[in-house]
Amino acid sequence: MPHDVKIGVLALQGAFREHVDAFRRLGCEATEVRLPQDLEGVDAVVMPGGESTTVSKLLATSGLCEPLSDRLHAGLPAFGTCAGMILLANVVEGAIAGQRSFGAIDIAVTRNAFGSQVHSFEHDLEIEGIEGGPFRAIFIRAPSIAHAGSGVELIARVGGQGVAARTGKVLVTAFHPELGRDLRVHEHFLGIVSEA
Ligand code: GLN
Repeated sequence: MPHDVKIGVLALQGAFREHVDAFRRLGCEATEVRLPQDLEGVDAVVMPGGESTTVSKLLATSGLCEPLSDRLHAGLPAFGTCAGMILLANVVEGAIAGQRSFGAIDIAVTRNAFGSQVHSFEHDLEIEGIEGGPFRAIFIRAPSIAHAGSGVELIARVGGQGVAARTGKVLVTAFHPELGRDLRVHEHFLGIVSEA
């Protein structure tokens, strides 16, 4: 069943093509966002995994920082994975000097909470609100959610650390659902977009 929404995927760096493919496989229009005008007509935005410090710098040079911030604070639904979760957070522990985040969801995140690249792992995760058994989640230099404000639901944990959260309009995961074949987390986000 095609979803009648247009998803904009921030395409400055990282795993953006995989998100575009995932949403297209679900029958949505998905477009790459590199410049302010690419935001026109999008019903939601996705911030992919990659390197949050690099994306933060590219956001400034692309001119996307202000328009994106305005749209997010006006209530544009957003989905952030890994570095994307860091970019949507309110507080970033382990940020570099001048690193930007949008504060679209009231969480404090800790960068690289599970160690470096060599400590990447996969984990069968129970995610609240996602039916059909555990989700095989891929963690690569993943952040964790150290604190979630009121109004934020923590929906998955690994060893007591928060790794996914949502509000009425924003979904974040510390892992990379776009790197596997299972589309349930993307589908869950489309549910949030249609409710919004
Ligand atoms: N550690 C990276 C950062 O801080 C995120 C890693 C990822 O997105 N896989 O941006």
